[in-house]
Amino acid sequence: MKRLWWSSIVMIAVMLVSQSWGFYGHRRINRMAVFTLPPEMVGFYKKNIEFVTAHAVDPDKRRYASKNEAPRHYIDIDHYAKAGGNPFDIMPRYWFDAVEKFTEDTLQAYGIVPWHVARMTNWLTKAFESRDVNRILSTSADIGHYIADAHVPLHTTENYNGQLTDQKGIHGLWESRIPELTADEYDYLVGRAEYIDKPIHAIWDVVEESHSYLDSVFFIEKDLTQKIPSDQKYAFETRGKSTVRQYSQQFALAYTNRMGDMVEGRMRKAIVMIGCIWYTAWVNAGQPDLDNIGEVNEEQLAKEQKEAEDAYQKKQIKGRNHDQ
Ligand SMILES: [Zn+2]
Repeated sequence: MKRLWWSSIVMIAVMLVSQSWGFYGHRRINRMAVFTLPPEMVGFYKKNIEFVTAHAVDPDKRRYASKNEAPRHYIDIDHYAKAGGNPFDIMPRYWFDAVEKFTEDTLQAYGIVPWHVARMTNWLTKAFESRDVNRILSTSADIGHYIADAHVPLHTTENYNGQLTDQKGIHGLWESRIPELTADEYDYLVGRAEYIDKPIHAIWDVVEESHSYLDSVFFIEKDLTQKIPSDQKYAFETRGKSTVRQYSQQFALAYTNRMGDMVEGRMRKAIVMIGCIWYTAWVNAGQPDLDNIGEVNEEQLAKEQKEAEDAYQKKQIKGRNHDQ
């Protein structure tokens, strides 16, 4: 009985940390991105702000429905530099060059987030071109999710949850626990969306910057673990009807203090980048008039999304669950 109780705690903890940026963070990031847009776009997105907010987490839910979904959220770029060297020099930035060098199976196995963002930027352009409101909004919400994921350092490494360095749980600590504790105090005046000439290069730059933070992400956790007594590192907290073990508030706050404004900074950059990509797709589509484009067909969308929701409720991830 005792063992059952423990395993259910672990299960719940795993489910809680398996959302990138947490549902809370993703929703806030998509929502704030609306306010970076130019006057020709902001009216339409404000009108649909509840939609892009609520659907910011659809890609995480889809991971329970499709095995193709998981690799879109990350890239374990360090996998490609096992023999030394800079993985960003080793990996070609364009998809077809990368497939030729490493095969598509390998790329899928270690994650494809930068290429997926670039591909979705084209999908969003097509949605604007065909003035398909449902597609515009659902693609905007989705792409916001993947761009936000690319800003998380732990989405760029094989050691994505500290499992290789005895720091298990660090993923949820960085991207869920800390935003939940501190995101209300962040500065959300992030600037205006700008046109991006080559989205694939911009998103690779994001991944490279994310990756550069990893040394601090791991080192500070290790250092604090030595300084904070082990019985104060974790805490049991009640969430709804469940009790979960997670990093204590004391540890999480000490950790984010030591990291400076890293989490806030990545969140702010994600918000601007999402605005830039929405704006770029709209410009590339010839700047269609969004003020008279029509309404979202919720009924049609609901039908499309029911399958993903059903699978999510069953909680069975297909493919690798990157975050746990
Ligand atoms: Zn994700």
